[in-house]
Amino acid sequence: MNRARVLLRTAAVGPLDYRVPHGMTAQHGSIVEVPLGPRKLMGVVWEEEKFQVEEVGDNRLRNILAVVDTPPIRPELRRLAEWTADYYLAPLAAVMRMILPSSSALGPGGTIIEYRHTGTAPPRMTAQRELALEKLDGEQGLVRELAAKAGVTDAVIRGLIKAGSFEAVEVSGDAPFIPLDPEHQPVDLTAEQATAATRLRAAVEAEAFSPILLDGVTGSGKTEVYFEAVAEALRRGRQVLVLLPEIALTQAFLKRFKARFGMEPALWHSSMRSTQRRRTWRGVADGSAQVVVGARSALFLPYANLGCIIVDEAHETSFKQEDGVRYHARDVAVMRGLMESLPVILASATPALESRHMAEIGRYEQLVIPSRFGKAQMPDIQSLDLLQDPPERGRWIAPTLVRAIEERLERGEQSLLFLNRRGYAPLTLCRHCGHRIQCPNCTSWMVEHRLTRRLACHHCGHLEKLPEKCPECGEADSLVACGPGVERICEEVQALFPEARSVVATSDTISNPAHAAEFVSRVEAGAIDIIVGTQLVTKGYHFPNLTLVGVIDADLGLEGGDLRAAERTFQQIAQVAGRAGRAEKPGQVIVQTRSPGHAVIEALVAGERDAFYDAETEARRHAGAPPFGRLAAIIISSEDQSEAAETARIIKASAPEMADAIVYGPAPAPLAMLRGRYRQRLLVHARRSAPLQDALRGWLGKLDWPRGVRVTVDVDPYSFM
Ligand code: ADP
Ligand code: ZN
Repeated sequence: MNRARVLLRTAAVGPLDYRVPHGMTAQHGSIVEVPLGPRKLMGVVWEEEKFQVEEVGDNRLRNILAVVDTPPIRPELRRLAEWTADYYLAPLAAVMRMILPSSSALGPGGTIIEYRHTGTAPPRMTAQRELALEKLDGEQGLVRELAAKAGVTDAVIRGLIKAGSFEAVEVSGDAPFIPLDPEHQPVDLTAEQATAATRLRAAVEAEAFSPILLDGVTGSGKTEVYFEAVAEALRRGRQVLVLLPEIALTQAFLKRFKARFGMEPALWHSSMRSTQRRRTWRGVADGSAQVVVGARSALFLPYANLGCIIVDEAHETSFKQEDGVRYHARDVAVMRGLMESLPVILASATPALESRHMAEIGRYEQLVIPSRFGKAQMPDIQSLDLLQDPPERGRWIAPTLVRAIEERLERGEQSLLFLNRRGYAPLTLCRHCGHRIQCPNCTSWMVEHRLTRRLACHHCGHLEKLPEKCPECGEADSLVACGPGVERICEEVQALFPEARSVVATSDTISNPAHAAEFVSRVEAGAIDIIVGTQLVTKGYHFPNLTLVGVIDADLGLEGGDLRAAERTFQQIAQVAGRAGRAEKPGQVIVQTRSPGHAVIEALVAGERDAFYDAETEARRHAGAPPFGRLAAIIISSEDQSEAAETARIIKASAPEMADAIVYGPAPAPLAMLRGRYRQRLLVHARRSAPLQDALRGWLGKLDWPRGVRVTVDVDPYSFM
């Protein structure tokens, strides 16, 4: 080949042809560096016939500059990238950016210069420097990383380097991965666990596509069971990918993993340092990173010989990416398994309705672990009718729940209160003029965060200082907090039990793996009596001494009314309930609700998971909702309100005739403004068999819209905001 078609990481330019200079070997999948104008870009050599490009004469071709010294991207991964781009209507280049994260990961090995805190005080101290030094005690990293960690500009860090407070150190980017030992510390499985583990081992051994639902109740030992699949893959010299829904869970996972296999696995997530990122990427590509644990983007890494994919807490909607390529990592994982002929294990105590349906109709194998490990029993779940047993005025914890917490404190046991709302109060209102403080960029109320004394928008991240007087009428001390968030519940806990040690656990307080590790060790050491947390604490954690879970407001999730509201509420409460009584001591769960007769609450109390899923599945079938029908949302946004509305109207008007689909809308999105952009939505509801993507491509591909308008397609949407 003396000509190569190269797909660049940059979506703005399509694939381009280049000359392969004499003496260079480039094959399909090779990662190459090519010139574009004055720039050098990374790309992958792709099959010529996949793209239409403008023919360029041989004499006008520019040379490929270099072939990167890593194995070529395998055809299976190239096909997966194409499938993802096709299915989610995303540019292939955007998918490619997930495969080739950055050119620094591909550059030559060797050392990287980082800066380490020296402890030397700078001759001149400023407020910014002081702030940075306080946050960066003992830290090391790139200028950019340090600046981000301290919340200061790069210039502040550079100033501190000049002043001697940080010194340069050379770090090797390529410390080798130490082999994992499948026999390091095997566990004795129970008979139920062993049955499931045997099937998983056989699936890994078969080296064939097999989607498997590992359906075990909370605390049944699903992790121990799928570790047997990991061990089998290791024995066979194959790699394993474990996807976790939340980085906060990795620390606890790493500990267990190390205990079982002797070493930690490789990591892949967004808050990783670039040196680690490079090392993992290379290790994945050459096969030396045997097990990778990561967030959804780890799915697109170029594994040399993947043998198994595990999606833990597979029902979690955080596996759906909501920007860029809007893919669902669980679904793409299954597709990768199909393309690479390997088992994909979806582990959950509360499977997604879609996954459970696939098992029901025999497309997925279902392995059930019906009981908890050891002496642990399933917790007792009861509902607490807030109308019958209301909290005191201005309080949110009903007397029965208060007494239950009290009992735990007396016995030296721990309690967890769950409310899926960050901050102190979801709404701040002026009692003088009635003004409600809204985000200037979004259709949403500013949420008070009392710990940081700020108002925050949970949609765009806009922050304001908590004003002392009403911004509308100027009245002083007139602002009141309406409704509870976790911080407010924690305040109530402190007022009720001044002696108890309580902690707020949310993405604000546990924002990285180090915080998560600290949180876990404090709870494990018994330094915490009462945890007040959001969905962050509903899953994964195993605290043996935690025996009470209180759900502050079970009705919250049912309000939105999107198609998965009931399913999601069920999963969330069942998961948080699953944190109670995981060891010898029995667990109790109290669910505060205004509608104890709601099907979700009744199913939870009666422990009738399958009856609930069956009814919910029938309702979906009746409505033609997923998985029986298909949805795609089209979101039109612009800074100009009428431009967004007009474009949405034109898109609707040009909808093709589709016998097997209906187009709803346009209508202003529930989040009618987001980050300063007005938003309109259309929803396409199609039959299962309808060629939805082709129809969308034909339809939207023909249209043009003003430059300031953005049109996004969300296939299989999970968010209806
Ligand atoms: P799940 O993921 O199903 O909620 P875990 O895998 O976290 O359950 O297991 C719950 C607890 O029980 C963990 O502390 C785990 O180490 C322990 N456990 C489960 N199975 C075994 C076993 N066979 N031997 C020893 N400990 C086990
Ligand atoms: Zn906002």
